Amino acid sequence: MIKTRFAPSPTGYLHLGGARTALFSWLYSKKMGGAFVLRIEDTDRERSTEESVQAILDGMQWLNLDYDEGPYYQTERFDRYTAAIQQLIDQGDAYYCSCTKQRLEALREAQMLAKQKPRYDGNCRELGLRPDEKSEFVVRFKNPQQGEVTFSDHVKGTVSVNNSELDDLIIARSDGTPTYNLTVVVDDMEMKITHVVRGDDHVNNTPRQINILKALGAECPEYAHLPMILGDDGKRLSKRHGAVGIMQYCEDGYLPEAMLNYLVRLGWSHGDQEIFNTAEMIEHFSLDDINKSASSFNTEKLNWINQQYLISAPIDQIVGLVKQRLDKTGTGYGVETDFQSIVELYRQRVSTINELADSILYCFEDFKQYDEKAAKKALRPVALEPLQRLQDEFSDLKEWKSPAIHQIIESVIQQFGLNMAKVGQPLRVAVTGGSFSPPIDDTVEIIGKAKTLARIARAISYISAK
Ligand code: GLU
Repeated sequence: MIKTRFAPSPTGYLHLGGARTALFSWLYSKKMGGAFVLRIEDTDRERSTEESVQAILDGMQWLNLDYDEGPYYQTERFDRYTAAIQQLIDQGDAYYCSCTKQRLEALREAQMLAKQKPRYDGNCRELGLRPDEKSEFVVRFKNPQQGEVTFSDHVKGTVSVNNSELDDLIIARSDGTPTYNLTVVVDDMEMKITHVVRGDDHVNNTPRQINILKALGAECPEYAHLPMILGDDGKRLSKRHGAVGIMQYCEDGYLPEAMLNYLVRLGWSHGDQEIFNTAEMIEHFSLDDINKSASSFNTEKLNWINQQYLISAPIDQIVGLVKQRLDKTGTGYGVETDFQSIVELYRQRVSTINELADSILYCFEDFKQYDEKAAKKALRPVALEPLQRLQDEFSDLKEWKSPAIHQIIESVIQQFGLNMAKVGQPLRVAVTGGSFSPPIDDTVEIIGKAKTLARIARAISYISAK
């Protein structure tokens, strides 16, 4: 059975790159009817935090990336790593090394001076040292010295490295704790991972891991190393680009379905299709179609995709999210508010839930002041009489619906021999405070009669006071 895993280190947020790795790994398991494992690589106790673990779990849940096994925590698996290290020592595939920091430092300096790649020189490799009280010991893997390691990567193609390039890496520190390459190998082996999908920052570790796997008598998984994600300036994506944790996008009003869709297109494509629901992603996904080159993060594209989802999502879902947002910002709205009409009116015009919620605040709260430019242009003495007439006719209107509102506006235009801009725009600024909104008759309808009349009165006093 196909089995993939996502193995984040909880040393920071779950960022975009991590989320994409998780998605590709998850997609492949779904596609193949396999299983997906979540494994938290928390052995670096100084840098791992509870909050980061929580951020990973939250992110997976928000994106709906469910796992069949786990979360496993490496800190709960030390006995297995210790057993594997012992096995390697017993087999003669690992050895104790007592080289001091000073010796290693001097070695490194000499190699740098001689313009060689710094590497361990195998000083203790054949000494057959046994740990004792007097010295500090690490355990090193006895990397083969002959031949080469070759693997076929689903993204990078054939990768081949000479064993002479690889030194004897430390697999247990002097306090006995295992190092990254050892824990990954033991876990991938014991969890029966068949496909390792991860960032290509790990591609250099892979030949070492393959050697350890072989020494442990394990079968090697297949690999897919994902190219990195760049910011729109071509530099590696980082906080400077606003590359924050994935949950920030939730906070900012993106939909998880849109986020997944955006992530899947970061480095993978299927013809020129842009919008994929989850079922389509699973159907079309293939490790072999992943781009070889880095992909670039682009906020505009993310916004566009999010907008597509805002437009096509069930209205109730959007209404629910908008209400959540309004609750969060402490905006009171009446129970009788016709959210369906409001959301229908706005969802074509915004990119995020937050933007939608912000755009409709005027429906619930009186704005503090007019947008200066808008007021200067539209709330002038010439608008006074048309506004008064609108006020009169609106107050008599029984059925507060957009067609009837439209008729009144048209009739005022006729009565004064004006055009839409000269009547509709003062009305818009009067009721929304600014010069942008959906069609004015719809806008006036969703604001409601009482608020509309009060705001026209406010605009009339504003003009009169000038
Ligand atoms: N824990 C590693 C990281 O977060 C990933 C290890 C792996 O996927 O093999 O970078």
